[in-house]
Amino acid sequence: MSYRPIVENVTEASSNQKDGLYEFIVKMVDGTKCRVFYHRYPEWKLTNISRLLQSPCPICRKDFICKCMDNFAGDIGQQIVDGQYLDKAEAK
Ligand SMILES: [Zn+2]
Repeated sequence: MSYRPIVENVTEASSNQKDGLYEFIVKMVDGTKCRVFYHRYPEWKLTNISRLLQSPCPICRKDFICKCMDNFAGDIGQQIVDGQYLDKAEAK
């Protein structure tokens, strides 16, 4: 069975608007949380994603650092766009 992340909500954790650097915490419906970094200029670009170690990885079940979420950066990034979370960050 292949994992499919479904973004439940996204909160802005920190930002440096001058440099266009943003950090978001993304919560999935399965409870997995990821820290996602974006660079805003010249256009929004997801630069890094890492799972928070509060719960085991939904893919490999490790409870320490793994790289599984890297494979879903595109999918998660698309859901962040579709959920207009970047628009909200931009509007502030
Ligand atoms: Zn993993």
